[in-house]
Amino acid sequence: MSEAEEHVFQAEIQQLLDIVIHSLYTDKEIFIRELVSNAADACEKHRFQMTSGQQVFEPEVEPKIKVATDDVAGTISITDTGIGMTREELVENLGTIAHSGSKAFLKQISEQKDKQADASLIGQFGVGFYSAFMVAEEVKVWTRSWHPNAEGQCWTSDGRGSYRIEKAADWSRGTRVLVKLREAEKEFAQGSRVENILKRYSNFVSFPIELNGEVANTVSAIWVRNKNEIKDEEYKEFYRFIGHDQQEPLGRLHFSADAPLAINTLLFVPARNIENLGIGRSESGVNLYCRKILIEAKAKDLFPEWLRFLQGVVDSEDLPLNISRESMQDSSLLQKLNKVITSRFLKYLEDLSRKDAAQFDLIYREYQRFLKEGVISDFTHRKELGKLLRYESSALEKGQMTSLADYVKRMAEDQKEIYYLYAPSRETAEQSPYREALQNRKLETLFLFDPWDEVAMEHLGEFEEKKLCAVERSELEVENVAGEPLSEEKVAELSKWLKETLGERVEEIKTSGRLVNSPAIVVDSEPAMTANMRRLMKSLNQETGAAKYHLEINPRHDVIKRLHAVRGADEPLAKVAAEQLFDNARMAAGLVEDPRELVGRLNTLLQKVLAK
Ligand code: ADP
Ligand code: MG
Repeated sequence: MSEAEEHVFQAEIQQLLDIVIHSLYTDKEIFIRELVSNAADACEKHRFQMTSGQQVFEPEVEPKIKVATDDVAGTISITDTGIGMTREELVENLGTIAHSGSKAFLKQISEQKDKQADASLIGQFGVGFYSAFMVAEEVKVWTRSWHPNAEGQCWTSDGRGSYRIEKAADWSRGTRVLVKLREAEKEFAQGSRVENILKRYSNFVSFPIELNGEVANTVSAIWVRNKNEIKDEEYKEFYRFIGHDQQEPLGRLHFSADAPLAINTLLFVPARNIENLGIGRSESGVNLYCRKILIEAKAKDLFPEWLRFLQGVVDSEDLPLNISRESMQDSSLLQKLNKVITSRFLKYLEDLSRKDAAQFDLIYREYQRFLKEGVISDFTHRKELGKLLRYESSALEKGQMTSLADYVKRMAEDQKEIYYLYAPSRETAEQSPYREALQNRKLETLFLFDPWDEVAMEHLGEFEEKKLCAVERSELEVENVAGEPLSEEKVAELSKWLKETLGERVEEIKTSGRLVNSPAIVVDSEPAMTANMRRLMKSLNQETGAAKYHLEINPRHDVIKRLHAVRGADEPLAKVAAEQLFDNARMAAGLVEDPRELVGRLNTLLQKVLAK
C-alpha cells in the first residue's frame, strides 16, 4: 500500500464544494448535525456487524460519539467508534458522488436559473459530509475500518480541488473528523454554542454523545420503541421535555407503520389550548425526524392547519431518500405523510370517544374550535370530523352532550332531518319560539352554543345521509293545535297593514304554521342565513348587506287577533303594538342590539295599559 497519495475530487464533488464554500451563508450549524448523523450511522452499522457473526476489530469497544471543541486552536472534532472506512472506502465515500443527498442537491442547483444555491437548500438536502466545508479551512479524517486486517488512514483536504490520503498508525476502530475552522466561524469551537446545536438536532441519537467529556444527549427517542415496553412515566417525562409543559397532556397517540411509508409517530394533546386565552395562534409543535435526527423543527405541512395544537415527533426512515435529502419540495411525499398521520389521529379520537368518553370530553371541551375549523376548512376530513362533534340536546339533561350518530339512533323512522338551533344559552334555546313546532311534534333539537357551530353544521351539510337543518330554516308545521285562527281574510288585512306600518324593515308578512305560544317570529329573507350567522359575519367585518326579514305571524294567537281588532279603534296604539311585536320577535332571534328604543316604547305601552 502506498503512502501519501494526492487525489483530485470528482468534478461534481468539486462543483458541490464550490457552492458549499462560496454560496451558503445561513444554517451553517447543520454541519454538526451532518457529521454527528454520519457518526451515528457508523455506530448503527457497527451494531449490525456485531450481530452478523463476522469478526470485528476491537469488538469490546462500545459504539459511542465524542465531540470535542478547542477554542484556542479553533477546532471541533467528532469521533465515533463505528465501523470506520478502508482506504478504498475513503476514496469512494468522500471523493465521489455516489450517494444520494449530494447528487440531488446538485441536480436542484443546476436546475436553478442563476446557479446560485439557495442557502436554505443545504438544510433540506443535508449534503452531509461536505457541509463541513461551509466553515472549514481544512478537514482531516482519521479512520480505521472494522475489518481485522485494515489499517488506519488519514484523509485531508481544504476543499479546493484535491485531497490527500496517507496511512495513520495505531488507530482505534472508527472515525474522527477534525474541522479546522475558518477565522469567521470560530463560534463552532465554543462548547456552549455546540451544546445548543447538539441539543437541538441530535438530542435523541441512540448512542451516547459526549461533548468535552460530558454526555450531551439526555433523552431517549422513545418514539421508535415498542409502545408495550414504555411506561406511562416515560411518556410523561418525554412530553415534559419536548412540550416544555409541566401539565400532563390530555391525549397521546403513539403508532408505527411500515406502509405506505415507514413512520414512527408520537403525538400529544397539550392540557391547555393556548388559543382559548386569546393570545395568538398556536404553532405546530411537531418536529420531523429522520432516524432520530432532526430534519425540521415545528414542521409545516405535516398536518392540516386545524391540527396545529399538537405536540410531538414524526420520524420517517423514508425521509433521507425521499423527502428531506432529495426532494423536500416534493410535496406529494409530505402529503402522504400528512394523510397517514391525520387519519390515524382522527381514528384515535374516535376510538377514545368510545373507550374513554370522559377523557374525550376533556379534549373536546378544550379543542372543539379546532375540530369545527376542520369541518369548515378541510374537505378531505370533514366527514370523519363530523363524527367527533358533540352538542347538548333537548333529549338530554343540561350539560350532557351527544354525538350526531347518537341523535340519528334516537330518530323516529320517518324523521328525515337532524335539527339544530343556535342560542347563547340552554335556557334561551329551550324557550326559543323557533322550536315550538318541533316541541309540538316531539322532535329532538340539538343546541349549539358556539356561534361557529352553526357554520360547521352548514359545511357538514348532512350526517349519515340525514340532512342537517337549522330550526330557524325548517318548515315544519305544528300538528293538531287547539284554538280558532283568525280568518284568512282578516289575516290578509292585518298583513297588509303590518307591511305598511313596518315598512322596509320587513320584506314580507307570512302566516306561520309553526307557532304555538308565540305571536310572531322573524326569519331572514335570505335562504341559508340565520340570525347567528349574520351576527358572526358582522363580527368578522364581512359585508352582509342590510338584513331583510320575513315576519311570520301566528293567526291563532290572541295578540294577533286583538291587533287586528284594535287597528280600527285605536290606530296609534295598534302601531306601537305592531312595532313592539316586531321587536319582540327580533329579540327572540337575538337580533336586538340597542334596546333603548324598545324600552321607551314599552313605557308608552305601560302608560296606555295603566290609563284604562
Ligand atoms: P450520506 O450520509 O447521506 O451517505 P455523507 O456525505 O454524509 O452522505 O457521507 C458519505 C458517506 O461517507 C457515508 O455514506 C458513509 O459511507 C461515509 N462516512 C461518512 N462519515 C462516516 C463515518 N463517521 N464513519 C464511517 N463512514 C462514514
Ligand atoms: Mg450523512
